[in-house]
Amino acid sequence: MKCEEIKPHLMAYLDGEIEQEKKGEIEKHLSECESCRKEYQSFVKLKEVTNKMRFADLSDELWAGYWKRIYRRIERGTGWILLSIGAIILLSFGVYQFFKEFLLDPYVSLIVKVGVSIFALGAIILLVSIIRERLFLFKTERYGEVEK
Ligand SMILES: [Zn+2]
Repeated sequence: MKCEEIKPHLMAYLDGEIEQEKKGEIEKHLSECESCRKEYQSFVKLKEVTNKMRFADLSDELWAGYWKRIYRRIERGTGWILLSIGAIILLSFGVYQFFKEFLLDPYVSLIVKVGVSIFALGAIILLVSIIRERLFLFKTERYGEVEK
């Protein structure tokens, strides 16, 4: 086959849109003819560039916003969890200090100690949860954005 016959089919060959029989002829010609091989390679490069550009458009306009939202959600979720755990630990410690004598009193039965401790812990968790909810409502009212 001559170069003139090969060149119009190079793009289709690159896209894999060519019948098996012709494919073999083109491959054979490309291995023998430097001019066509160079042209084919320029097509390959062009295809790579356009593919990358398409991907870049996507990542800039769509994916960046998408990941930013996901990241912000994870960030806030983690922030709330850490804040809550810290508040629970500190409040529990405060309550423990407050009830220390009671809890260490050998005349109070263990059942009562455990009961009071669990009661106090439950109250603290509820308190933290309510405060968190109030803060969340305050935030959404201020910025007028609803995000969970
Ligand atoms: Zn050629």
